Amino acid sequence: MILFYTARQRFDAYLLADRLKQAGIRTHVFNEHAASIVGDVPPDVAQPQVWLEREQDRERATIVLERMNADARNAEVVTCAACREESPAHFDLCWNCGAAF
Ligand SMILES: [Zn+2]
Repeated sequence: MILFYTARQRFDAYLLADRLKQAGIRTHVFNEHAASIVGDVPPDVAQPQVWLEREQDRERATIVLERMNADARNAEVVTCAACREESPAHFDLCWNCGAAF
């Protein structure tokens, strides 16, 4: 088992673990209940961690992680003409002011 990724949020850890699983890579998520103990332990210990069962999967896992980050960057947004806030492109209404796109 090797530590592969330390997430800032539990959601991140599960998103990555799910993608790795789809790629056939066996993972374990630790510290999934970190939020409740932050403050009692150092933050880097309390954050959710994704571990790989087999070290030889690290290279492929890195590709999966890079792809996931690229997807997040490429997620399309629309800018509201009324209030200039950005919303995900699949929204029909501005999350901020409710204007239709
Ligand atoms: Zn708006």
